[in-house]
Amino acid sequence: MRWSKAFIPTFKEIPREAEAVSHILMLRAGLIRKLTSGTYTYLPIGWKVLEKIIKIVREEMNRAGAQEILMPAMQPKELWEKTGRYGLLKGDILITYRDRHGKEIVFGPTHEEIVTYLVSGEIRSYKQLPQILYQIQTKFRDEPRPRFGIIRTAEFIMKDAYSFDCDWEGLDKSYKIMYATYCRIFERCGLDYIAVEADPGMMGGDVSHEFMAPAESGEDKIVVCSSCGYAASLDKAECPGERNQKPETTNQNLRPIKEVDTPGITTVEKVAQFLKVNPQELVKTIILLAEGKETAVLVRGDYELNLVKLAHYLKVENLVMADEKTIEKLTGGPMGFSGPVGLRGIRILADYSLKGMFNFVTGANKPDKHLINVNLGRDFSVEEFGDFRYFTSQDKCPRCGEEASLKTALEIGHIFKLGTKYSQALKANFLDRAGKEKPMIMGCYGIGINRIMAAFIEQNYDREGIIWNKSLTPFEILILPTHQNEPLIKEIAENLDKELEARGVSCLLDDRELHPGVKFKDADLLGIPLRLVIGRSFLDKGLLELKLRRTGESFSFPSGEAREKILDKIKNLA
Ligand SMILES: [Zn+2]
Repeated sequence: MRWSKAFIPTFKEIPREAEAVSHILMLRAGLIRKLTSGTYTYLPIGWKVLEKIIKIVREEMNRAGAQEILMPAMQPKELWEKTGRYGLLKGDILITYRDRHGKEIVFGPTHEEIVTYLVSGEIRSYKQLPQILYQIQTKFRDEPRPRFGIIRTAEFIMKDAYSFDCDWEGLDKSYKIMYATYCRIFERCGLDYIAVEADPGMMGGDVSHEFMAPAESGEDKIVVCSSCGYAASLDKAECPGERNQKPETTNQNLRPIKEVDTPGITTVEKVAQFLKVNPQELVKTIILLAEGKETAVLVRGDYELNLVKLAHYLKVENLVMADEKTIEKLTGGPMGFSGPVGLRGIRILADYSLKGMFNFVTGANKPDKHLINVNLGRDFSVEEFGDFRYFTSQDKCPRCGEEASLKTALEIGHIFKLGTKYSQALKANFLDRAGKEKPMIMGCYGIGINRIMAAFIEQNYDREGIIWNKSLTPFEILILPTHQNEPLIKEIAENLDKELEARGVSCLLDDRELHPGVKFKDADLLGIPLRLVIGRSFLDKGLLELKLRRTGESFSFPSGEAREKILDKIKNLA
């Protein structure tokens, strides 16, 4: 490929709209261009990289015995109603439209409904199971916060796979196969990744793992223990803390409860400052509606309530903060002044962290008032304790008790044991050996193709630009003649380009009539692993220079040895 004829629009400036490294470099190196917030065009270089990722994914899925299909992106809303996800996601991430007949169509953000419907009509017997079907396709979501370039977009390419088994042992097997396949895919792509226990979220089911790539611009935090290998998403990471402790109800030093003025002061930080106590001595009272049912949850002042954990505990899908009106009606006080003392007709739950507390501060359920020296048991009671908060950097590993660290990471894959949620709703049944009708046991498995590219760049760059590896690079070698107007240089560059292409090497020949400095800058920005420079030392001494983008090492050799040297270096590229 000749650069003079190629569509590789590079630029020097740091784009103002971009914050993530991968976003900046993909724009500058001419891999992508934005159309609207959340939608991007992949230019030739960007698309080449995506195709390489897709090839790896496809090869590994096929090797695992999965079969590729292609399902419609446009889906009837009725199927989404049957699984209950239409009500859950309409008005949220679901993009829908009405066709000319007035039928509502969903643009698929995922395909559980469609593949389960498909299989329900085709598979009748245990003899036809197990099956793993997958596709590589564009997905859509009404993304509230498109961010970080192609990391969070409204339109993206996914590999989604679905397994169907006769029993739970079969699902375990399919799940293990997909887990191992994902590891191979990410390893072949050259990504640093960690598989973490995760929350299944809107997919439902019990067991799930996220594959996370540690990256500065990651949107997720993960908890990783280097001592025992425990790894979990922040939604899931356990905080057992005071689980086994008895609540501090019989402490000798319980002081009498007292109401104090806190005029207009509502946040934990400000109340703590005003009363000259630590945030750890405050208790937050959060009023929520769990599928419409009023619930109060108590959490120590310096901790954050984890809604995902709470929703699991309560076994509800719809869990929202109560609005100001509901809070006033329930507690008698305005928002920001809620407390558990005197709260009637509402379920009170508390995070384990409360067990270790006494003489603490809460809202008084009155405007501009808080209570101090509040105590569990004496002043109010809690229905149940649970793990309802987010893991913090002060917490220890829940498995081994050693230091655990919080890392920023980017989700690149997610696998779920779905069970029978979708097969029951859509009657995807089969007859077992005994002739009994049973719902199929399902799993689903997703990989964000675009995100692999972003994650790779987040993990492989320097001040000058991207640093590709052998498996994802858009070209294996960049041939860089420094002076296009020197016939000898031009000639050998063109000959080498032809000869290497004929030997199966993908080359980019920078035949642009530009200052060598500009070409070198672009070469570093684009990040092709090998750069062959044909310049002055060729004219003077017949020498060529081969430079490795990753290490900066360079090698000089006579032009006659170029082919063999280059082929050898490509063979040994990582
Ligand atoms: Zn540990």
